[in-house]
Amino acid sequence: MDRQQEFVLRTIEERDIRFVRLWFTDVLGTLKSVAIAPAELEGAFTEGIGFDGSVIEGFARVYEADMLATPDPSTFQILPWRGENPGTARMFCDISLPDGTPSMADPRHVLQRALAKAGDLGFSFYVHPEIEFFLLKDEPGSGERPVPIDNAGYFDHVPHGTGHDFRRAAITMLESMGISVEFSHHEGAPGQNEIDLRYADALSMADNIMTFRTVVKEVALEQGLYATFMPKPFADHPGSGMHTHVSLFEGDHNAFHEPGAPYQLSKVGRQFIAGILHHGAEITAVTNQWVNSYKRLWGGGEAPAHLTWGHNNRSAMVRVPMYKPNKGNSTRIEVRTLDPACNPYLAFAVILGAGLKGIEEGYELPPETEDDVWSLTEVERKAMGIKDLPSSLNGAIQAMESSDLMAEVLGEHTYEFFLRNKRREWEDYRATVTAFELDRYLRL
Ligand code: GLU
Ligand code: MG
Ligand code: MG
Repeated sequence: MDRQQEFVLRTIEERDIRFVRLWFTDVLGTLKSVAIAPAELEGAFTEGIGFDGSVIEGFARVYEADMLATPDPSTFQILPWRGENPGTARMFCDISLPDGTPSMADPRHVLQRALAKAGDLGFSFYVHPEIEFFLLKDEPGSGERPVPIDNAGYFDHVPHGTGHDFRRAAITMLESMGISVEFSHHEGAPGQNEIDLRYADALSMADNIMTFRTVVKEVALEQGLYATFMPKPFADHPGSGMHTHVSLFEGDHNAFHEPGAPYQLSKVGRQFIAGILHHGAEITAVTNQWVNSYKRLWGGGEAPAHLTWGHNNRSAMVRVPMYKPNKGNSTRIEVRTLDPACNPYLAFAVILGAGLKGIEEGYELPPETEDDVWSLTEVERKAMGIKDLPSSLNGAIQAMESSDLMAEVLGEHTYEFFLRNKRREWEDYRATVTAFELDRYLRL
């Protein structure tokens, strides 16, 4: 037992924790949880807890169903919404096969591998997400329209507004779990909120996002509301994105920062953006993994639709935010495609993989587009060499299918499972007769 493990065991005793939840995430980003009694914990640390992997999306084929979950003591946290005396705590787990080798289907492991690769090149990877989501009055029943909790807009202050109370309760809970919040505000659409987390290393942040989604849903339920991370619930309002600011550090030095360069952006920073744009179409199935994700990307509302970058360009996939003098270490780039219903482990892994590829191959950064790409015609965009993001899940699947980079970053098992699962989703969608069609064509 190491010191962190001992600390966990001691805390459990001191704080009267009776349930320890072991958390992990499936390939599609759904949180899984199994509760164990404190007496089982020592064994869980040393040998792992066995479970049947074949029932978890993407985890195992039937003949390799036995899997082990081993809790990571550095992620130990008490769950405030479960009350005290007795209390409940949780830890994220690493998943392995019975022989101890890491499971290639464990998204945490996929990200750890990508981070190790960055480490070999001398880099650590930091991220901070701006997470948007909707608060609804109720959970809509099947076929019912969602009803947002208010009619406010961007940065609106709603006196005694439900959204305000909600954000305060959610942020207090997040902070009590060690997740620092930097900003929060009402977003552009009715019922839409945004909470921005303070930057952290990518693995901790992916864990934090899994916790964040749970906290937001729990607090909403406590207040008689319903929270959704669906990318585009309303056709005529902006969707929910998860813009993610990323940077590479070499020790204490921000590798994206170069004083005096345009936007203070170093060669490493420029090549990283070039990698993201070059492989942008291939990684989109992971950063935007649902049929509905593409209604956001192609539905305006400041969501990106083109493989471009710019300084102050909100229709671009990548934006270089305003540079703050005296804050060299804050140089970063904002990737605007991600939505809050992605698997954060896989999404961070593929962004890092694409960016590192740009550095390794020395990709040249194309010129920035300062025009509002939305207002250009298709012909103008073609003439400027501007390529589009995939416009549907099907297009994203096709781009991913021919991507060596994606197979390498995700590993063969996750790559293939993901594609199989997404092809099935697309086929289900294609076979559905929608309300749009009934409205338009029934009278034919
Ligand atoms: N909701 C927009 C999106 O889908 C982003 C709005 C903003 O710039 O924060 O990406
Ligand atoms: Mg926003
Ligand atoms: Mg943003």
